[in-house]
Amino acid sequence: MPSPVGHSILAFIVTGLRRAPYGRKRWWPVLVIFAACAADLDFLPGILMGDPNRFHHGPSHSITAALVFAIAFARALPMRAVVGVFFIYLSHLLGDWLAADTGAPFGIPLLWPFSSAYFISPVPIFSNFEHGGAGAGLADFIGQVFSGHNLLAIGLEIAVLGPVLWLVTRYRRRRSRR
Ligand SMILES: [Zn+2]
Repeated sequence: MPSPVGHSILAFIVTGLRRAPYGRKRWWPVLVIFAACAADLDFLPGILMGDPNRFHHGPSHSITAALVFAIAFARALPMRAVVGVFFIYLSHLLGDWLAADTGAPFGIPLLWPFSSAYFISPVPIFSNFEHGGAGAGLADFIGQVFSGHNLLAIGLEIAVLGPVLWLVTRYRRRRSRR
């Protein structure tokens, strides 16, 4: 998996940096970051049980979960924004699919519940963001999350995604001026 930084940059590539898909909403960037990282809330039940990786890369990393997550906003947001939230969530799945994964099962269960197969890109673009292996305790988990390896992984994400975000933002600005 990429870091929350990588996931957030990916999400802003999807939505654009400038404004909400409707009106002026100050909290839109917060929602973008939340939707970008929501799939990894699957760490929470494991953290509470002292085994942070127990449920990670489970059903929350599927297209079905993206749909359910987006539909949850259907009453609060206009349709355009709900579709945006869906694609932001999908960008998380794309990021994880493109990242190196050093612990089985490798990749993500993209088609859950219709298939239990795990999917991962044959060519990883992002380094793995370490968070302890299967069965690692909370101390190991925290130690690895704040490791030098992860700092480098974040650097790589910024190096790869930063220019893409800059190009996309420039393109959008030009188009909106026309
Ligand atoms: Zn993830």
